[in-house]
Amino acid sequence: MSSARTASAKTPARAPAQSVTGDPLLLTPGPLTTSKSVKEVMVHDWGSRDATFIAINTAVLEGLPKIIHGEADFVTVPMQGSGTFAVEAMLTSFVPRSAKCLVLVNGAYGLRAKKILDIAGRAAVVHETAEDTPPDLAEIEQILEADAAITHVFVVHCETTSGIRNPVEAVAALVKRHGRRLLIDAMSAFGALPLDAREVTFDAVAASSNKCIQGVPGLGFVLARASALEETKGNATTLVLDLHDQHQAISKTGQYRFTPPIHVIVAFHQALQEFWAEGGVAGRGERYADNARILIDGMARLGFETLLPAARQAPIIVTFRMPADERFAFQRFYDALKDRGYVIYPGKLTVAESFRIGCIGDLHAADMSAFVGVVAEVLDEMGVGLKTAA
Ligand SMILES: *Cc1c(COP(=O)(O)O)cnc(C)c1O
Repeated sequence: MSSARTASAKTPARAPAQSVTGDPLLLTPGPLTTSKSVKEVMVHDWGSRDATFIAINTAVLEGLPKIIHGEADFVTVPMQGSGTFAVEAMLTSFVPRSAKCLVLVNGAYGLRAKKILDIAGRAAVVHETAEDTPPDLAEIEQILEADAAITHVFVVHCETTSGIRNPVEAVAALVKRHGRRLLIDAMSAFGALPLDAREVTFDAVAASSNKCIQGVPGLGFVLARASALEETKGNATTLVLDLHDQHQAISKTGQYRFTPPIHVIVAFHQALQEFWAEGGVAGRGERYADNARILIDGMARLGFETLLPAARQAPIIVTFRMPADERFAFQRFYDALKDRGYVIYPGKLTVAESFRIGCIGDLHAADMSAFVGVVAEVLDEMGVGLKTAA
């Protein structure tokens, strides 16, 4: 504990929670709390042509398709930048100029995909549902039947705006039945919610280094069906986001076209080893589900309501409704939690006043229980009546 903290008038009743490096715990959707070992592997300098780095990068790219059981048909195309760079690369490389994309929207990331297509001059139509409502399969079917020009469908697996789990498997079956192609933004779900390419048909899925695989931010990637990627030559609207060209260069030379985020990739390699050691998607998904259950049950005991019913809630990030009690001031709540070592996330909803708490990253059951205890303390301090004793 720092002396500054001890001297503060707002000294918490207990020592603040900390990650192993003394930073607050991030209960956010990413960047998130990473393990010490993931951070430690970055204490090196390598050139982009260094054999050690190239071997690490190759292992990362070759290993990723296993997460979706796509070893036979899928290749990894990495993309420097945050997750949105990978989504934009996927949409602009896979949707040709003459094509039309149906975008399923129930939050900010669906809207972002529509904006990407608009900027790229790609025809796009939207099927939008409320942020707490999954896409309507019957309506999608009607749209596909009525508009033969639609070639692609875009869906977000876990819409991080609300934390809703969208029915990707059912959407994929529908899209396949209608002979169209599916593109998935699985960013916040990848590695925690199952997506099995042997059973779910899609051309590409985008994700990033800093969500459920628990690496540091800076690398997006697209897992692409090799046969579909081959057809994308010449589609790209920008030089840097051209997945076809990126893939060609890396497969031929082992090297990126432009400076790779070396430290990020080395940390991602370590994070992937820790992911497999935890049992892959099943093991990681189970820990996050435990985290989410402890959080939701604990917050419910304190009187907080979730936006989503349990059946629609992904164990990634949970949206809570802002309490009606006028003594509850969100900024004060946020700051008091931060003082005690927990960073939460503001809401992004249009349907209701809310805030969000993430369950992903190097967070465990004890962290979530301790967090709920601290929320009770902060409510008490704010004079907000607790529903029942925690
Ligand atoms: C995090 C996230 C992204 C990418 O966001 P960046 O800030 O660019 O990393 C895209 N889609 C979803 C669903 C996400 O959760």
